[in-house]
Amino acid sequence: MSVRVRFAPSPTGPLHIGGARTALFNYLFAKKHGGTFILRIEDTDQVRYVHGAEEYIQDSLEWLGLIPDEGPRKGGKYGPYRQSDRKKIYHKYALELIESGKAYYAFDTPEELEGMRAEHEAAGETATKYDAHIRMLMRNSVSIGEERTKELLSKDTPYTIRLKVPHDQVIGFEDIIRGQVNFNTSELDDKVLIKADGMPTYHLANVVDDHLMEITHVIRGEEWLSSTAHHVLLYMAFGWTEMMPKFSHLPLILKPSGQGKLSKRDGSQFGFPVFPLDWQDPSGEFFQGFREFGFLPEALVNFLALLGWNPGTEQEIFNVDGLAQVFSLEHVSKSGARFDFDKALWFNQQYILTTDPERIATLISPMLNETGVHVDHGYLTKVCSVYRERIKVVHDLIKTTAYLFGDIGEYDTEAIHKMWSPELAGHFQTLAQSLSAEESFTADRLREIITPYVKSNGLKMGNVLQMLRTAISGSPSGPDVYQMLELLGKEKVVERIGEFSSRRE
Ligand code: GLU
Repeated sequence: MSVRVRFAPSPTGPLHIGGARTALFNYLFAKKHGGTFILRIEDTDQVRYVHGAEEYIQDSLEWLGLIPDEGPRKGGKYGPYRQSDRKKIYHKYALELIESGKAYYAFDTPEELEGMRAEHEAAGETATKYDAHIRMLMRNSVSIGEERTKELLSKDTPYTIRLKVPHDQVIGFEDIIRGQVNFNTSELDDKVLIKADGMPTYHLANVVDDHLMEITHVIRGEEWLSSTAHHVLLYMAFGWTEMMPKFSHLPLILKPSGQGKLSKRDGSQFGFPVFPLDWQDPSGEFFQGFREFGFLPEALVNFLALLGWNPGTEQEIFNVDGLAQVFSLEHVSKSGARFDFDKALWFNQQYILTTDPERIATLISPMLNETGVHVDHGYLTKVCSVYRERIKVVHDLIKTTAYLFGDIGEYDTEAIHKMWSPELAGHFQTLAQSLSAEESFTADRLREIITPYVKSNGLKMGNVLQMLRTAISGSPSGPDVYQMLELLGKEKVVERIGEFSSRRE
């Protein structure tokens, strides 16, 4: 049987980094086994639906290169892939369970439910749940009998459909990551399967769709572990246990401190992104995405893969195909994975180092345009090839290369104070003069002129080069100074060296 996995987000907000990792692990598992990766949008909760979230999720997956084999955009023979478009399907299955006595109609009003809760709380019971005991005290087809149920239905009395959870049974499943997980049904409530508005709940829609879409493995976040108890009961109720998917619950992604779950607030607090792309919250709050922060998608994929999974070797750099080859759920850890943003930056740096400068230029160009800078693509590519080794995120280029596209903002006065001596002024002016006469203003040619000059005049090479850098860019640090000179071009170089030295004679 071929592997079929699904990523099943609810469009209640943007895809956060935990969701992206879940999607990635599903994708890798599918690719490893030559299987199918499905995207299913679970939008049955109308109240929590956030406009734009579905588009955002799909755009994020595409940016990461995790393209679903089947899904709302791509289609497929198990569609539709959006639960709101499958609404009709679920009712039929809920009725099937009523027929077989595994589910029942519940006519309790919200006030009655609240009253039940309050009564039990008053009696000192903490968690009151709609279970085998309470069931008989409430208004439902089990407690009131068939005749009265028919009567209420014929009068269009609003109802929900609940799962009739058996009393006091131990039921379990084998989680690929966590091993055997058992639960006692007396800990569970009679979950609502169909809500009063006619929509299915997550539990019913999720199980029915996994079954109809022939999902073989459910790989999802740890927060769904407790729901699996009800899902197993649903598989049993439908008589689908033979076909039940294998479950894997991924560990949480923890805050940088290692304490507690990573939240979107941590991103704003510590200044790092937690969403793949920019996101404007309906509340008005804005969150910067990894893409807009200057990350390459393949670097983020590599970083995410190692959040909770390890290859069992020391190797850290993997492209997505390499990951798919070695990925296994058995190597996913049970304990939470700490989100280490410095590590994410490190991965990005590694990928930038080996990325074609032309691609970096394409990425940075619109951002430069936004700052009012418009430059030739070929020139920008050259800039990127010189600076590629010095940046962690693509956006670092904007700051580090600003001197090429505008005036020098501030000079590093501390460095000047430490390394400049007035005797350099004359030498800089002489150098400026000979450079101005130079026909071929290339890094190699400039090295040929400057190096012998420094040596024959008994000057300190390090000092001169750092001050040259400062004179043309404001800072003593940067890439190879000759390349910087070439990038800036003769006219500006001569002007800046001349001005810098004449102010410091
Ligand atoms: N709709 C659920 C979510 O938002 C899906 C959980 C699952 O994969 O079963 O994550």
